[in-house]
Amino acid sequence: MEYLKGLNPPQREAVEHTDGPVMIIAGAGSGKTRVLTYRIAHLIHAKGIDPFNILSLTFTNKAAAEMKHRIEQLIGLEARNTWMGTFHSTFAKILRVEADKLGYPSNFSIYDTDDSKSLIRSIVKEMRLDDKVYKANTVLSRISGAKNRLIGWETYLNDPYIKADDETAMKPKMGEIYKNYQKRLFRSGAMDFDDLLFNTNVLFRDHLDVLNKYQQRFKYVMVDEFQDTNLSQYLITKKLASVHQNICVVGDDAQSIYAFRGADIQNILNFEKDYPDLFVVKLEQNYRSTKNIVHAANSIIAKNKAQLKKEVWTQNQQGDLIELIKASSDNEEGRMVATTIFEEKNNKKLNNSDFAVLYRTNSQSRSIEEALRKMSITYKIVGGLSFYQRKEIKDLMAYMRFVVNREDEEAFKRIINYPKRGIGDTSVEKMMVAAYEHDIPLWEVMTNAASFLPGRAANSVEDFSTLIKSFAIEVERKDAYDAASSIAKQSGLLRELYEDKTIEGLNRYENVQELLNAIKEYVDNPENEDKSLGAFLQEIALLTDNDRDKDTTDAVTLMTIHSSKGLEFKQVFVVGMEEDLFPSQMMMQSREDLEEERRLFYVATTRAMERLYLTYALTRYRFGRLLNCEPSRFLEEVDPDCIKVNKRISSALSSSFRSDTSEGRSGFVGIKRPNIRPATTAKVHTPSPDFKPSNTNNLAVGMKVEHPKFGFGTVNKIEIEGINRKASIAFDNFGEKTLLLSFAKLRIV
Ligand code: ATP
Ligand code: MG
Repeated sequence: MEYLKGLNPPQREAVEHTDGPVMIIAGAGSGKTRVLTYRIAHLIHAKGIDPFNILSLTFTNKAAAEMKHRIEQLIGLEARNTWMGTFHSTFAKILRVEADKLGYPSNFSIYDTDDSKSLIRSIVKEMRLDDKVYKANTVLSRISGAKNRLIGWETYLNDPYIKADDETAMKPKMGEIYKNYQKRLFRSGAMDFDDLLFNTNVLFRDHLDVLNKYQQRFKYVMVDEFQDTNLSQYLITKKLASVHQNICVVGDDAQSIYAFRGADIQNILNFEKDYPDLFVVKLEQNYRSTKNIVHAANSIIAKNKAQLKKEVWTQNQQGDLIELIKASSDNEEGRMVATTIFEEKNNKKLNNSDFAVLYRTNSQSRSIEEALRKMSITYKIVGGLSFYQRKEIKDLMAYMRFVVNREDEEAFKRIINYPKRGIGDTSVEKMMVAAYEHDIPLWEVMTNAASFLPGRAANSVEDFSTLIKSFAIEVERKDAYDAASSIAKQSGLLRELYEDKTIEGLNRYENVQELLNAIKEYVDNPENEDKSLGAFLQEIALLTDNDRDKDTTDAVTLMTIHSSKGLEFKQVFVVGMEEDLFPSQMMMQSREDLEEERRLFYVATTRAMERLYLTYALTRYRFGRLLNCEPSRFLEEVDPDCIKVNKRISSALSSSFRSDTSEGRSGFVGIKRPNIRPATTAKVHTPSPDFKPSNTNNLAVGMKVEHPKFGFGTVNKIEIEGINRKASIAFDNFGEKTLLLSFAKLRIV
């Protein structure tokens, strides 16, 4: 096997150990993804496994495509037939086939975050609740948290402890909203992102024949970035693999950065319990980065208490010191980044695509973009307001969605009176209320408009439904491109945009054309077997931010650190290294949050192969104001031996840093920063500075605990009800409270 030569001994062991449960826990850049790739090639090529029997779950669809491409290079075209994609896209495909078992149409819509929030806003309004208390964002994240822990609305409503929790948060109607939200999604034939996983769990729980079918199909299951799976994802994988037990997961606990979305690092620890005969591989040799970068990254992550011990090392060159760049303002920061890229490109004959600029929040891209534009350096933004989130694109997509699934309420709201056809908000509301009160699909209301609306409005609605019916016939007969082109024209949308002769109007018109081009490309791609409009819509709905970047031109990449996971670039800038920005102000409620921010910093630094720059500004526009900034505490945590102050700007430096002296290293003198604020602003109780929730598996009566809000208390009782464990705790200052242990953050004192 010639290809096995591209692996070191432990990597090779992980590849050749094909049967039974395997877990690869390894540091950044140590070849985890490479091992998965080679493992799949090996399964097909050496073990004769049918590619159709292999399922691999990746972080983005693009990562899956790259992996397929790589396997193809190793063993040929057969690779194409493996099942590969994100959890969401893979199981959406399966749900499409099995939808009827759950009472859903097979062409169900997938609501994106905007759709979900808009639906929540309608529900909050209909329930006459205060939308300042029940903010769409807050409600959605609470619902999402419940779904990721597999708590459905019935359980949610019936659980007195969750109820108590919501009452404490002064949001007692949360459960009711959750219920209405689910009912409305169901009535709209729609699922949100979390439903894709939640419903897959329901499907596998209630339909053993279906589960069995997929268990037989997927003889080998593999998961990349395992540290970022949530309970819902974990259970799906576990169920699928439970017959053959050929499951291989790879991950790095130090790169777990999605706890805020319910990812649970415990999955790594549980894995060892769930599979006692687990074969564990550690990879410690980094192939990606220079010694300096690896050393710096190690020194950062060492500050975290919660971690599995690993020694990451590399045989690569020592490399350049990490450069610290201080700017007087965010705009100057942008200029310094752009100038550095310009110089490095020329001096080292690099491409734009060798550079990445990483930031904590999307809004930071503006100043960097401006500077790059001024120097005519091509760049692309991954994430942010992407193409598919533009209004005109969403409008046309809503038409297509509604034609394919006529129960889709959010799509309906977008298009019913756009372009204008004399159907006012009142009529729309009347129709929604009618559907709600009679519990019938909106489409039925529309086709019987005369029963619900006065004459003129009823006529317009009937014309509209005739139009939609004619589109539906086209969708059935034509491929996605022909159908979409026809919808764009006949709906009046293209004309509306065409008639707007402003520059923005022209742009919007071109964007719609661009969407049609993308559909054409989809239809022409031989890999897409299903060329229907429904199939295209699903594919688009499931793109992750990274996938949306289609650009193949040579460009500098701008993206959030979260999106950069798994990627590598020759030179990386981590910008905005300032207190309150990174670590983020929003994520400073506990030590646990701070540790997650630090892991994020670790992910950022480990993307760099040859050169790493850390930049910060002394002033920055945020929330519409010019703010003074302090350097990030994280800068102090990098081993001073691997860092230097950028020489290009040494004249502009304050005396707190020594600048680089030609070749020699300079010491890194600590940054002056006033005392760090206490880690929390909670009014009721200030958690101890070292507050960190404990694992409550072994919590017992009589133990003393600390709660971030309620302070100290003693456990009086522990109960188990269904899948929930609850503890009654007598708090010193707040009396007795019963808390659901999977939600409560408790520190055992
Ligand atoms: P991350 O934690 O960032 O996801 P990873 O552990 O998945 O990283 P890979 O992306 O698989 O690491 O590998 C990092 C780089 O090192 C890649 O460019 C890969 O091709 C290279 N690499 C890994 N193993 C070897 C090897 N044995 N020989 C040569 N190059 C290797
Ligand atoms: Mg990887």
